[in-house]
Order: sequence, then C-alpha cells, then structure tokens
Amino acid sequence: MKPSATNALNAKIDELRKQGRKIYNFAKGDLVLPNHPLILEAVQKVIDEGHSPYAPVAGLSELRAAAAQWMNERYGSDYKEAETVVTTGGKFAVFASLQVLIEPGDEVIIQAPYWVSFPEMVKLANGTPVIVQTRWKLTPELLKAAITPKTRVLILNNGCNPTGILYSKEELNALLNVAKSANLWVISDEVYSELVFEGKYHSLATFAEHKERTIIIESCSKNFAMAGWRVGFAFGPKSVIDQIIALQSQSTTGTSFISQKAALAAIRNSPAVSKYVRDRLSQKRKVFFDTLSQLTNTKIEPPPAGIYYFTKIGPVEEILDQTGIALVPGEAFGTPGYARFSFAETEEEIVEGLNKLKKYL
Ligand code: PLP
Repeated sequence: MKPSATNALNAKIDELRKQGRKIYNFAKGDLVLPNHPLILEAVQKVIDEGHSPYAPVAGLSELRAAAAQWMNERYGSDYKEAETVVTTGGKFAVFASLQVLIEPGDEVIIQAPYWVSFPEMVKLANGTPVIVQTRWKLTPELLKAAITPKTRVLILNNGCNPTGILYSKEELNALLNVAKSANLWVISDEVYSELVFEGKYHSLATFAEHKERTIIIESCSKNFAMAGWRVGFAFGPKSVIDQIIALQSQSTTGTSFISQKAALAAIRNSPAVSKYVRDRLSQKRKVFFDTLSQLTNTKIEPPPAGIYYFTKIGPVEEILDQTGIALVPGEAFGTPGYARFSFAETEEEIVEGLNKLKKYL
C-alpha cells in the first residue's frame, strides 16, 4: 500500500520546517481559515456540558437528517435520514463505499487527473483501477471505451481535485446514461460542491432516475473549512448505507461526538458558513491568480471551482529543495509533467512564495 502522496509531502514539509527551513506550502488541502464563530459556539457548548459519549455509529440522528435536508434543499432530491451516513471525512465515505460495492477483480473507472487516493482505495478493496486519461473531462466516448464485463463502478469527481473543472448537467447526464447501460454503480465525489466561483454546481442528486445506483460523497472539510474535524457523508440507497454503517461498526465506531456537533452547527447555518468560506477563498484566489498573471505577463485563468491550480511545471523535488516551495507532483494525480498548487494559503505566503518561484524559474 502506498501512503497518500499529499499526506506524505505534508509530513516532509513539517520535517523541513523543524530543521528551520522556510517553506511555502502550496501543497495543502486545507483552507487555512479560522472556523466560523457559529461552529465554535456549538463546540464550546459541548465542552461546557462536559459530556463526550460515543455517538451512534451511523451518526447523530439530527446530523443525518440535517445533512439529507442540506442535499435536498440545494438539489431538489429526496434523501432520507436512513439514506445518509456520517463518516470520518469524505475520505472514509469513499473508502467504505468501495469496500461495500466491489468484489475481488471488479474494475473501477477513474479519470486522470484523479484525486490521489482513488486508485489505492480501489486496490485496498481488491478491485482493479482502470485509469482513463483526459484533458480534463471524461466523455461518454472515453467512458464507453473503458467499460469491460468486469466494470462495476465509475468514480466521478465534479469540481475535480486537482483541475477544478466543472461538468455541465448535460455532460453528467450523458455519462450517467452510459453508466446505466452498463449497469454500473457511480460514486460521485462532491466534496468541493460549495466552492464554486464561476458557473453552477450540478450534483448527481438532481438525477432522481439514477438514484438507485449512485452514492454521493460530501464533506465539511472544504465546504465549511473544517478539515481537522473529520466529518463527511455518504448518501445513497439504504442497502448500501446500511453496509457502510456495519463497516463503521467494526472499524471506526463512527465519527467523534464533538466533531458531529460542530458539523451540525455548520450545516444548520450552511448558507452563512459557506458564504464566509467562499468570500475568503475568493480573495485568496484573486491574489494568487493576479500575482501569477503579473509575474508571468500572461493572463492566467483560474479554474471555476475548488482550491487548486494544476499546471505544467517541474521538477517539484528540485523546486522544493532550491526554493522551499512545496507543490504536489502531477504523478500523484496520474498526470506526470504537471503539478498542483493550492491557493488557500495566507495572502502574504502566496505573494512571497510566487515571487520566489518566479526568481528561481
Ligand atoms: N475527495 C476529494 C476529491 C478530495 O480532494 C478530498 C480531500 O482532499 C477528499 C475527498 C477527502 O476529504 P475529507 O476526508 O477531508 O472530507
């Protein structure tokens, strides 16, 4: 098993910092923002009450219900509490869904560039990842060509990490129809759904006719800038959700009680919390792309969603050694020759880091 490339790189960064090196960390997946005051208020209440019991394995009932409502209000879907499970981050929701859906030898289609953990998670479930190279969208033709009799699951990641691309409703519909004709399950990773700056986010939750074969993954990490609290969700048919709950009952015992209270506050106040996060991230995005455009004398267009900029640059090891600028290499996303910048760092670090990079280049 390979460790997550991004987690491993961040451990190396911590090590270099301990040695006294100045590091500009453009390799983060974190939003580098304080939690919204309403989240902290809810957490303080738990501390004041002084009890932190086991939460139900599937998640607090009120959080499951609020999460289902959050989906339904945004997308017109009809998820019920029983079709919702709280997980330790979106990461465990993807992991658990694959464990439940895959039999040994099943193939799972993943488009590259992909989020670093998808292929390894498929292997951990004794499945075979089938990687489809794209620039940067999966098309019905590419999908059809990758399907074999062994294909069981398609993983989609709208608001893709690392490219930040968004699929239109028509594009998603076309992909879903191909998936349906081959009787595939679709795992739809939507953890960047609230971090959209241009255009509209289309969730698979809007496609009621595909609900019975779709698992939607959501998370508080990016949408509410709560990465450290480790709260995510899976929404899907009750039969699959029940199996994820069974898996949790034999592994994590569910998500930390205090984290779920924090998540409940965020979801109940989601328009305000999402706006708080998006406004601050939007400012960082502007600083990043304005600075980069100015330094390169070229207008560099930001991606419509997410917190990353994926571009041709390298070698990243040399850049880190020579300048202290940390980027995630494209290999980690199945796309060598590229690297991923996060633009979620503080504005000072963004400007200083990019100026240093320009000098080096
Ligand atoms: N899915 C994607 C595409 C991600 O980029 C991430 C985190 O970087 C996750 C899932 C997992 O996020 P978390 O477990 O923090 O909810």
